[in-house]
Amino acid sequence: MRLVLVGPPGAGKGTQAQFIASHLSIPKISTGDIFRANVSGGTELGKLAKQYMDRGDLVPDEVTIAMVRDRLSEDDAQEGFLLDGFPRNVPQAEILKKMLSEWDTKLDIVLELVVDNDEVVRRLAGRRTCRSCGKVWHLVFDPPAKEGVCDACGGELFQRDDDREETVRHRLQVYERDTSPLVSFYADEGILVGIDATGPVEEITERAMAVLRPLAD
Ligand SMILES: [Zn+2]
Repeated sequence: MRLVLVGPPGAGKGTQAQFIASHLSIPKISTGDIFRANVSGGTELGKLAKQYMDRGDLVPDEVTIAMVRDRLSEDDAQEGFLLDGFPRNVPQAEILKKMLSEWDTKLDIVLELVVDNDEVVRRLAGRRTCRSCGKVWHLVFDPPAKEGVCDACGGELFQRDDDREETVRHRLQVYERDTSPLVSFYADEGILVGIDATGPVEEITERAMAVLRPLAD
């Protein structure tokens, strides 16, 4: 099965990507993992990407695409894969489509994790991080025994800038601006399926698998 997973920040995409890939016995391929592997492996593309990252610039599309192409050419991706974080926009989606068609194949499905914005804010803005050990707590879902104190190490808990409500709402706006055209592109291709990504992690995985299992046979 060749699938792409999309979803807003705070939708638990990384976790679902891992579970789904393991249920389907396909590799989970995320752009973050590909960047790290190329940089630590010292590949030419990795060296190129590192120059941009060291300057604080975005890695250009053509470098990302070349890395994705290399990764999808590896043996373990021949029977299928789950892409997480790529494509990020319509031009990348078009290039992916072309790449796969050169290999006489195509995407089977694009699974969208659908979560209401207020729910994302509730999830992320409730997070508190320990200054000492880095453990992440949640005021509602996983509160520490004593307010403001890490149960694990006694360290002080604080709210990361990334988790502040204004920041979360801004990231959601950016996501919507960048991703809605991508979602429409795949809807037009007739391969987009959205699932409700609220509730317990296991239930979300089950909803995803209910959609994916029939396609895997
Ligand atoms: Zn701690």
